[in-house]
Amino acid sequence: MMALLRPSGFFVLFALALFLTWGAGSSVAAVKQVRASAETRPVPHAGDAADDSAIWVDARRRWRSTIIGTDKQGGIGVYSLGGRLIQYRRDGRLNNVDLRGGFRLRGGRVALVTASNRSNNNIVVYRVDRRTRKLVRVPGVIRAGIHVYGLCMYRSPSGRYYAFVTSDSGQVEQWRLFRRGGGVDGRRVRRFAVGSDSEGCVADDSLRRLYIGEEGVGIWRYGADPGAGSGRTPVDSTGSGGQLVADVEGLAIAKGRPGYLIASSQGNSTFVVYGRRSNAYVKTFEIVAGRRIDGATDTDGIEVTTMRLNRRFPGGLFVAQDGNNNRPRHQNFKLVSWRAIARA
Ligand code: CA
Ligand code: CA
Ligand code: CA
Ligand code: CA
Repeated sequence: MMALLRPSGFFVLFALALFLTWGAGSSVAAVKQVRASAETRPVPHAGDAADDSAIWVDARRRWRSTIIGTDKQGGIGVYSLGGRLIQYRRDGRLNNVDLRGGFRLRGGRVALVTASNRSNNNIVVYRVDRRTRKLVRVPGVIRAGIHVYGLCMYRSPSGRYYAFVTSDSGQVEQWRLFRRGGGVDGRRVRRFAVGSDSEGCVADDSLRRLYIGEEGVGIWRYGADPGAGSGRTPVDSTGSGGQLVADVEGLAIAKGRPGYLIASSQGNSTFVVYGRRSNAYVKTFEIVAGRRIDGATDTDGIEVTTMRLNRRFPGGLFVAQDGNNNRPRHQNFKLVSWRAIARA
């Protein structure tokens, strides 16, 4: 075969290969690399178990802030900023978790935590006990009308609290959460179809937006208010020209200036960053192995805060599930300094 090509033919082929290699390299932005500063203790269950997280910020003593992480095979854990387990609750197959502060309950204001329970399709409600940092069940049963998968919360500018639940059928429900006696009840206020398997979602409270990840397709932006209907705008796709590789998993909003929308791109174990307001693509990063802590691959749920928490997380904290936590160890969550990501 080679003998059939004259030297000039070789040169043309070589030049073409060089051009193609260079062309591909220049059109795809380099993936930035960051390392985890800490990691949580592995979850109790083996296999694909850790999934999504929420960050509770102790407003008065930030170093006491916690990571709340789901173990979708059977419970939910609360971890310190150093990754130590503070509490584990065997409350069912809790898949996604989110929280919003300032909810009026029993004469005070509490951080309300909700999670999607795949054991019974309920929205489970907790509050954070400020003294112990543990989750306390809030009385009330909220039974969704779909097979719940993902979950995220929204506090409207007028002070109303909502939970969105997504499903593997692509159906989404919005539930208004309100106080009933000493507990919390819910009323379904909207239902719409995304199209196919949808899990990750996040609400941008002040911009009144809802982002949903359609796992095999991309990210959609909807209005977060109950009357916003089903009109939507595409943010990014898993197709050609898109920055995502299926599945699209967790979504998170980094507040502060400038703010960002971040997506977990499970298919290539990266995180894609977009402008918070414009949703324009900014950059892609990955969590690689450091001296002590392994990288995050086959990544699932994510969460971020841009508040200063302690010396290790001076500009905030980014949390990512790690699908392969140095097997045979169980899955866990990697904790990355937000400042390292912002500067990458
Ligand atoms: Ca979450
Ligand atoms: Ca998923
Ligand atoms: Ca997930
Ligand atoms: Ca890993």
